[in-house]
Amino acid sequence: HAKEAGPGNIRFFDPAIQIALEESEAMLQDLRQALHQDELVLHYQPQTDGNGHIVGAEALVRWHHPRQGLIAPGHFIPLAETNGLILSIGRRVLQQACAAATRWRRYIGADWQLAVNVSARQFQQQTFVDEVRTIVADSSLEPHRLKLELTESLVLSDIDDTIAKMCALREDGIGFAMDDFGTGHSSLAKLKHLPLDQLKIDRSFIGDLETTPQDTAITRAIIAMGQALGLEVVAEGVETEGQSDFLRRHGCHGFQGYFFSKPLPEADFEQLLQVGVRLPQAAVCG
Ligand code: C2E
Ligand code: MG
Ligand code: MG
Ligand code: MG
Repeated sequence: HAKEAGPGNIRFFDPAIQIALEESEAMLQDLRQALHQDELVLHYQPQTDGNGHIVGAEALVRWHHPRQGLIAPGHFIPLAETNGLILSIGRRVLQQACAAATRWRRYIGADWQLAVNVSARQFQQQTFVDEVRTIVADSSLEPHRLKLELTESLVLSDIDDTIAKMCALREDGIGFAMDDFGTGHSSLAKLKHLPLDQLKIDRSFIGDLETTPQDTAITRAIIAMGQALGLEVVAEGVETEGQSDFLRRHGCHGFQGYFFSKPLPEADFEQLLQVGVRLPQAAVCG
Protein backbone atom coordinates (compact mmCIF):
# COMPACT_ATOMS: atom_id res chain seq x y z
CA HIS A 1 0.00 0.00 0.00
CA ALA A 2 1.21 3.47 -0.90
CA LYS A 3 0.63 4.77 2.62
CA GLU A 4 3.12 2.37 4.13
CA ALA A 5 5.74 3.06 1.51
CA GLY A 6 7.29 6.28 2.81
CA PRO A 7 10.97 7.19 2.37
CA GLY A 8 13.19 4.57 3.93
CA ASN A 9 10.22 2.29 4.03
CA ILE A 10 10.24 1.05 0.44
CA ARG A 11 8.86 -2.43 0.03
CA PHE A 12 11.01 -4.58 -2.14
CA PHE A 13 8.83 -7.56 -1.65
CA ASP A 14 5.43 -7.19 -3.20
CA PRO A 15 3.50 -10.47 -3.10
CA ALA A 16 1.53 -9.55 -6.21
CA ILE A 17 4.72 -8.94 -8.21
CA GLN A 18 6.26 -12.07 -6.78
CA ILE A 19 3.26 -14.15 -7.85
CA ALA A 20 3.28 -12.58 -11.33
CA LEU A 21 6.98 -13.37 -11.71
CA GLU A 22 6.49 -16.95 -10.65
CA GLU A 23 3.55 -17.32 -12.99
CA SER A 24 5.44 -16.02 -16.01
CA GLU A 25 8.43 -18.21 -15.12
CA ALA A 26 6.09 -21.21 -14.98
CA MET A 27 4.51 -20.16 -18.26
CA LEU A 28 7.93 -19.90 -19.92
CA GLN A 29 8.72 -23.43 -18.76
CA ASP A 30 5.40 -24.63 -20.17
CA LEU A 31 6.02 -22.76 -23.41
CA ARG A 32 9.43 -24.39 -23.91
CA GLN A 33 7.71 -27.70 -23.41
CA ALA A 34 4.94 -26.69 -25.80
CA LEU A 35 7.45 -26.22 -28.61
CA HIS A 36 8.78 -29.71 -28.14
CA GLN A 37 5.36 -31.26 -27.90
CA ASP A 38 3.83 -29.44 -30.83
CA GLU A 39 1.21 -27.67 -28.78
CA LEU A 40 1.41 -24.51 -30.91
CA VAL A 41 -1.15 -24.58 -33.68
CA LEU A 42 -2.07 -22.14 -36.38
CA HIS A 43 -5.55 -20.92 -37.09
CA TYR A 44 -6.29 -19.24 -40.40
CA GLN A 45 -8.50 -16.21 -40.91
CA PRO A 46 -9.76 -15.67 -44.46
CA GLN A 47 -9.10 -12.43 -46.30
CA THR A 48 -11.61 -11.55 -48.99
CA ASP A 49 -11.83 -9.19 -51.91
CA GLY A 50 -14.76 -6.88 -52.60
CA ASN A 51 -16.77 -9.78 -54.04
CA GLY A 52 -16.39 -12.05 -51.04
CA HIS A 53 -13.88 -14.33 -52.73
CA ILE A 54 -11.18 -15.66 -50.43
CA VAL A 55 -7.93 -14.21 -51.76
CA GLY A 56 -5.73 -15.19 -48.86
CA ALA A 57 -5.51 -15.78 -45.14
CA GLU A 58 -3.62 -14.69 -42.06
CA ALA A 59 -1.96 -17.38 -39.96
CA LEU A 60 -2.55 -16.75 -36.24
CA VAL A 61 -0.82 -18.85 -33.61
CA ARG A 62 -2.64 -20.46 -30.66
CA TRP A 63 -1.37 -22.59 -27.84
CA HIS A 64 -3.18 -25.83 -27.09
CA HIS A 65 -2.28 -25.89 -23.40
CA PRO A 66 -2.74 -29.36 -21.86
CA ARG A 67 -4.57 -27.98 -18.80
CA GLN A 68 -5.72 -24.48 -19.77
CA GLY A 69 -7.09 -25.20 -23.25
CA LEU A 70 -6.62 -22.85 -26.18
CA ILE A 71 -4.55 -19.77 -25.27
CA ALA A 72 -4.58 -16.64 -27.48
CA PRO A 73 -1.26 -15.20 -28.70
CA GLY A 74 -1.72 -12.02 -26.67
CA HIS A 75 -1.15 -14.15 -23.57
CA PHE A 76 2.14 -15.72 -24.56
CA ILE A 77 3.77 -13.89 -27.51
CA PRO A 78 4.73 -10.81 -25.44
CA LEU A 79 6.30 -13.11 -22.83
CA ALA A 80 8.14 -15.07 -25.51
CA GLU A 81 9.40 -11.76 -26.91
CA THR A 82 11.16 -10.92 -23.64
CA ASN A 83 13.10 -14.09 -24.14
CA GLY A 84 14.73 -15.89 -27.05
CA LEU A 85 11.78 -18.24 -27.22
CA ILE A 86 10.09 -16.03 -29.81
CA LEU A 87 12.79 -17.04 -32.29
CA SER A 88 11.89 -20.72 -32.06
CA ILE A 89 8.19 -19.93 -32.09
CA GLY A 90 8.56 -17.68 -35.12
CA ARG A 91 10.50 -20.33 -37.01
CA ARG A 92 7.93 -22.98 -36.17
CA VAL A 93 5.04 -20.73 -37.20
CA LEU A 94 6.66 -20.00 -40.54
CA GLN A 95 7.36 -23.70 -41.17
CA GLN A 96 3.78 -24.69 -40.35
CA ALA A 97 2.30 -21.86 -42.42
CA CYS A 98 4.44 -22.63 -45.48
CA ALA A 99 3.64 -26.32 -45.24
CA ALA A 100 -0.08 -25.59 -45.04
CA ALA A 101 -0.04 -23.22 -48.01
CA THR A 102 1.83 -25.84 -50.01
CA ARG A 103 -0.86 -28.42 -49.23
CA TRP A 104 -3.57 -25.98 -50.32
CA ARG A 105 -2.03 -25.41 -53.73
CA ARG A 106 -4.72 -27.23 -55.64
CA TYR A 107 -7.53 -25.10 -54.18
CA ILE A 108 -6.09 -21.62 -54.55
CA GLY A 109 -5.86 -19.11 -57.36
CA ALA A 110 -2.71 -17.60 -58.82
CA ASP A 111 -2.68 -14.51 -56.60
CA TRP A 112 -3.64 -16.23 -53.37
CA GLN A 113 -1.34 -15.33 -50.43
CA LEU A 114 -0.79 -16.44 -46.86
CA ALA A 115 0.18 -13.73 -44.38
CA VAL A 116 2.43 -14.54 -41.42
CA ASN A 117 3.19 -12.21 -38.51
CA VAL A 118 6.83 -11.50 -37.77
CA SER A 119 7.99 -10.17 -34.41
CA ALA A 120 10.71 -7.55 -34.02
CA ARG A 121 13.28 -9.86 -32.42
CA GLN A 122 12.81 -12.37 -35.18
CA PHE A 123 13.17 -9.80 -37.97
CA GLN A 124 16.20 -8.13 -36.37
CA GLN A 125 18.23 -11.34 -36.36
CA GLN A 126 21.12 -11.22 -38.78
CA THR A 127 20.09 -14.62 -40.11
CA PHE A 128 16.45 -13.67 -40.75
CA VAL A 129 16.63 -13.50 -44.55
CA ASP A 130 18.49 -16.80 -44.87
CA GLU A 131 16.17 -18.46 -42.44
CA VAL A 132 13.04 -17.42 -44.33
CA ARG A 133 14.59 -18.51 -47.62
CA THR A 134 15.49 -21.90 -46.21
CA ILE A 135 12.05 -22.50 -44.73
CA VAL A 136 10.29 -21.46 -47.93
CA ALA A 137 12.58 -23.63 -50.06
CA ASP A 138 12.24 -26.64 -47.73
CA SER A 139 8.46 -26.44 -47.93
CA SER A 140 8.62 -26.03 -51.72
CA LEU A 141 6.18 -23.15 -51.43
CA GLU A 142 6.24 -20.67 -54.30
CA PRO A 143 7.69 -17.58 -52.53
CA HIS A 144 5.05 -15.22 -53.92
CA ARG A 145 2.46 -17.12 -51.85
CA LEU A 146 3.99 -15.74 -48.68
CA LYS A 147 3.39 -12.29 -47.23
CA LEU A 148 5.15 -11.16 -44.06
CA GLU A 149 3.33 -8.79 -41.71
CA LEU A 150 5.56 -6.23 -40.02
CA THR A 151 4.68 -3.53 -37.50
CA GLU A 152 5.61 0.13 -37.55
CA SER A 153 7.86 -0.05 -34.49
CA LEU A 154 9.70 -3.00 -36.00
CA VAL A 155 10.49 -1.33 -39.32
CA LEU A 156 11.52 1.97 -37.77
CA SER A 157 14.05 0.65 -35.32
CA ASP A 158 16.71 0.38 -38.02
CA ILE A 159 15.24 1.57 -41.27
CA ASP A 160 18.26 0.81 -43.48
CA ASP A 161 18.57 -2.74 -42.19
CA THR A 162 14.81 -3.17 -42.62
CA ILE A 163 14.88 -2.00 -46.22
CA ALA A 164 17.83 -4.26 -47.04
CA LYS A 165 16.08 -7.33 -45.62
CA MET A 166 12.78 -6.52 -47.30
CA CYS A 167 14.47 -5.96 -50.66
CA ALA A 168 16.35 -9.26 -50.41
CA LEU A 169 13.16 -11.23 -49.73
CA ARG A 170 11.16 -9.29 -52.30
CA GLU A 171 13.61 -10.40 -54.94
CA ASP A 172 12.38 -13.91 -54.24
CA GLY A 173 8.79 -12.72 -54.61
CA ILE A 174 7.82 -12.57 -50.95
CA GLY A 175 5.34 -9.79 -50.13
CA PHE A 176 5.14 -7.39 -47.19
CA ALA A 177 2.23 -5.89 -45.28
CA MET A 178 2.32 -3.17 -42.66
CA ASP A 179 0.19 -4.52 -39.81
CA ASP A 180 -1.90 -2.41 -37.40
CA PHE A 181 -1.29 0.61 -39.58
CA GLY A 182 -2.09 3.92 -37.94
CA THR A 183 -1.29 2.89 -34.38
CA GLY A 184 2.50 3.25 -34.45
CA HIS A 185 4.80 6.22 -34.69
CA SER A 186 5.86 5.95 -38.31
CA SER A 187 6.73 9.09 -40.10
CA LEU A 188 5.40 9.05 -43.61
CA ALA A 189 8.80 10.32 -44.76
CA LYS A 190 10.34 7.04 -43.63
CA LEU A 191 7.45 4.84 -44.66
CA LYS A 192 7.67 5.97 -48.27
CA HIS A 193 11.06 4.25 -48.56
CA LEU A 194 9.73 0.86 -47.50
CA PRO A 195 9.07 -1.67 -50.27
CA LEU A 196 5.60 -2.57 -49.02
CA ASP A 197 2.73 -4.24 -50.87
CA GLN A 198 -0.05 -3.68 -48.40
CA LEU A 199 -1.32 -1.55 -45.52
CA LYS A 200 -3.58 -3.17 -42.95
CA ILE A 201 -5.84 -0.62 -41.27
CA ASP A 202 -5.79 -1.36 -37.56
CA ARG A 203 -9.04 -2.67 -36.21
CA SER A 204 -9.22 0.08 -33.57
CA PHE A 205 -10.31 2.41 -36.40
CA ILE A 206 -12.83 -0.04 -37.85
CA GLY A 207 -15.00 -0.80 -34.81
CA ASP A 208 -16.65 2.65 -34.64
CA LEU A 209 -16.06 3.52 -38.24
CA GLU A 210 -19.66 4.46 -38.89
CA THR A 211 -20.31 6.45 -35.74
CA THR A 212 -17.04 8.18 -34.84
CA PRO A 213 -16.13 10.93 -37.34
CA GLN A 214 -12.42 10.75 -36.45
CA ASP A 215 -12.32 7.02 -37.25
CA THR A 216 -14.21 7.63 -40.48
CA ALA A 217 -11.72 10.30 -41.49
CA ILE A 218 -8.65 8.25 -40.57
CA THR A 219 -9.91 5.18 -42.40
CA ARG A 220 -10.70 7.18 -45.54
CA ALA A 221 -7.31 8.86 -45.36
CA ILE A 222 -5.46 5.54 -45.07
CA ILE A 223 -7.37 4.10 -48.03
CA ALA A 224 -6.67 7.22 -50.12
CA MET A 225 -3.01 7.22 -49.16
CA GLY A 226 -2.63 3.54 -49.97
CA GLN A 227 -4.22 4.09 -53.37
CA ALA A 228 -2.01 7.08 -54.09
CA LEU A 229 1.11 5.11 -53.18
CA GLY A 230 0.02 2.07 -55.17
CA LEU A 231 -0.41 -0.10 -52.07
CA GLU A 232 -3.18 -2.55 -51.43
CA VAL A 233 -5.30 -1.65 -48.40
CA VAL A 234 -6.82 -4.31 -46.19
CA ALA A 235 -9.15 -3.60 -43.26
CA GLU A 236 -8.86 -5.84 -40.21
CA GLY A 237 -11.52 -6.39 -37.56
CA VAL A 238 -14.51 -5.92 -39.89
CA GLU A 239 -17.44 -7.09 -37.78
CA THR A 240 -20.56 -5.72 -39.46
CA GLU A 241 -22.14 -5.44 -42.87
CA GLY A 242 -22.21 -1.67 -42.44
CA GLN A 243 -18.46 -1.50 -41.94
CA SER A 244 -17.89 -3.80 -44.86
CA ASP A 245 -20.12 -1.70 -47.15
CA PHE A 246 -18.51 1.55 -46.08
CA LEU A 247 -15.02 0.19 -46.70
CA ARG A 248 -15.96 -1.22 -50.06
CA ARG A 249 -17.61 2.04 -51.15
CA HIS A 250 -14.45 3.94 -50.24
CA GLY A 251 -12.20 1.68 -52.28
CA CYS A 252 -10.71 -0.66 -49.70
CA HIS A 253 -9.31 -3.72 -51.47
CA GLY A 254 -9.26 -6.44 -48.86
CA PHE A 255 -11.32 -7.44 -45.84
CA GLN A 256 -10.67 -9.49 -42.76
CA GLY A 257 -12.86 -9.85 -39.69
CA TYR A 258 -15.52 -11.74 -37.83
CA PHE A 259 -18.20 -10.51 -40.25
CA PHE A 260 -16.62 -12.79 -42.84
CA SER A 261 -15.11 -15.45 -40.62
CA LYS A 262 -13.25 -15.93 -37.37
CA PRO A 263 -9.81 -17.50 -37.51
CA LEU A 264 -10.46 -21.21 -38.16
CA PRO A 265 -8.62 -24.41 -37.28
CA GLU A 266 -6.74 -25.75 -40.28
CA ALA A 267 -9.22 -28.49 -41.17
CA ASP A 268 -12.17 -26.07 -41.17
CA PHE A 269 -10.27 -23.52 -43.19
CA GLU A 270 -9.20 -26.09 -45.73
CA GLN A 271 -12.82 -27.11 -46.13
CA LEU A 272 -13.74 -23.52 -46.99
CA LEU A 273 -11.09 -23.53 -49.70
CA GLN A 274 -12.15 -26.91 -50.98
CA VAL A 275 -15.77 -25.87 -51.33
CA GLY A 276 -14.70 -22.56 -52.89
CA VAL A 277 -17.28 -20.56 -50.95
CA ARG A 278 -17.82 -16.86 -51.05
CA LEU A 279 -17.90 -15.11 -47.71
CA PRO A 280 -19.71 -13.87 -45.62
CA GLN A 281 -22.13 -16.64 -46.52
CA ALA A 282 -19.63 -19.04 -44.98
CA ALA A 283 -19.58 -17.24 -41.64
CA VAL A 284 -22.99 -18.73 -40.91
CA CYS A 285 -21.73 -22.28 -41.07
CA GLY A 286 -18.28 -21.45 -39.62
P1 C2E B 1 -2.79 -9.10 -35.61
O1 C2E B 1 -1.68 -9.60 -36.44
O2 C2E B 1 -3.21 -7.68 -35.79
O3 C2E B 1 -4.00 -10.11 -35.88
C1 C2E B 1 -5.34 -9.74 -35.91
C2 C2E B 1 -6.02 -10.06 -34.60
O4 C2E B 1 -7.35 -9.56 -34.65
C3 C2E B 1 -6.15 -11.57 -34.33
O5 C2E B 1 -6.10 -11.76 -32.91
C4 C2E B 1 -7.56 -11.85 -34.83
O6 C2E B 1 -8.14 -13.01 -34.27
C5 C2E B 1 -8.27 -10.60 -34.39
N1 C2E B 1 -9.47 -10.34 -35.17
C6 C2E B 1 -9.68 -10.60 -36.47
N2 C2E B 1 -10.89 -10.18 -36.87
C7 C2E B 1 -11.47 -9.64 -35.78
C8 C2E B 1 -12.75 -9.03 -35.53
O7 C2E B 1 -13.59 -8.89 -36.42
N3 C2E B 1 -12.99 -8.59 -34.27
C9 C2E B 1 -12.07 -8.71 -33.28
N4 C2E B 1 -12.41 -8.25 -32.07
N5 C2E B 1 -10.87 -9.29 -33.47
C10 C2E B 1 -10.56 -9.73 -34.71
P2 C2E B 1 -5.22 -12.91 -32.28
O8 C2E B 1 -5.27 -14.14 -33.10
O9 C2E B 1 -5.59 -12.99 -30.84
O10 C2E B 1 -3.75 -12.32 -32.41
C11 C2E B 1 -3.38 -11.16 -31.70
C12 C2E B 1 -2.01 -10.69 -32.13
O11 C2E B 1 -1.01 -11.64 -31.77
C13 C2E B 1 -1.86 -10.51 -33.63
O12 C2E B 1 -2.43 -9.30 -34.04
C14 C2E B 1 -0.36 -10.54 -33.78
O13 C2E B 1 0.19 -9.29 -33.44
C15 C2E B 1 0.04 -11.54 -32.70
N6 C2E B 1 0.27 -12.84 -33.35
C16 C2E B 1 -0.61 -13.80 -33.71
N7 C2E B 1 0.02 -14.86 -34.28
C17 C2E B 1 1.33 -14.55 -34.29
C18 C2E B 1 2.51 -15.22 -34.77
O14 C2E B 1 2.45 -16.32 -35.33
N8 C2E B 1 3.71 -14.59 -34.58
C19 C2E B 1 3.79 -13.35 -33.98
N9 C2E B 1 5.00 -12.79 -33.83
N10 C2E B 1 2.72 -12.68 -33.54
C20 C2E B 1 1.50 -13.28 -33.70
MG1 MG C 1 -1.20 -9.55 -38.34
MG1 MG D 1 -3.18 -6.52 -37.37
MG1 MG E 1 -4.13 -5.65 -34.55
